[in-house]
Amino acid sequence: MMTNPAFAARTPVLELVAVHAGYGRIDVLHGVDLALHAGEVYALLGPNGAGKSTTLGVASGQIVPSSGGLMLCGRDVTGAAPDALARAGVCVVPEGRGIFPNLTVAENLRMATFTGMRYPDVSARAFTQFPRLRDRRRQMAGTLSGGEQQMLAMARALATDPAVLLVDELSMGLAPIVVDELYDHVRQIAAAGLSILIVEQFVHEILGIADVAGIMLHGRIEHTGSTTELADGLASAYLGGKH
Ligand code: ATP
Repeated sequence: MMTNPAFAARTPVLELVAVHAGYGRIDVLHGVDLALHAGEVYALLGPNGAGKSTTLGVASGQIVPSSGGLMLCGRDVTGAAPDALARAGVCVVPEGRGIFPNLTVAENLRMATFTGMRYPDVSARAFTQFPRLRDRRRQMAGTLSGGEQQMLAMARALATDPAVLLVDELSMGLAPIVVDELYDHVRQIAAAGLSILIVEQFVHEILGIADVAGIMLHGRIEHTGSTTELADGLASAYLGGKH
């Protein structure tokens, strides 16, 4: 089939369409629509328990929707396994970072070579984006600062050359100055063409780097729009929300 370039430009890289999903028989997502476009940073915000991590679980194939669909570049991939989606370019930076604390920084990066990448390429890319990791390459990952661990988790994800990065609570437990530094990296990575879906509880700074934000409450995205449009909506959602 011929693809009309104008249409292709508007086709989201990743899209959730009317997704209902949850755990066992209990749905926690009640009709989620979310579209992430190429090179965009989408901030999915909302209070504890709203369903943000579950949404990322659906986007990464960890959770199969009970109804609705998951599309990748316009292709229906609903029900595809996480490793298939990973090979198709969807990569997760999990909450809690998912690094191996008893391995060195270099060994953690080496884990990313399972996809067939060569270690020199993986490390060169990681150290260019995160020079701090080069200095720490022989250090046990568990002894890094929280911000450096988050950098390592991102570096490992980027090593697989993904098209989409799904990031769960990058700022968790980190000082604001460290969060600012990490967000600078997110901004650079997006500028290089990656699409990034980032979940945060309310963090004001994310509005400065995201193009689009969605506010999730009780398993639905209640408001969506450009970050400037949403700043007011966010304030009222949080002031009015019960959690
Ligand atoms: P948080 O900021 O706490 O991670 P969240 O917005 O990411 O919140 P989810 O983690 O998606 O929210 O959780 C949404 C709902 O699903 C919550 O009510 C939670 O208790 C429930 N839930 C999450 N994980 C499971 C699970 N493995 N089994 C059963 N219920 C779960």
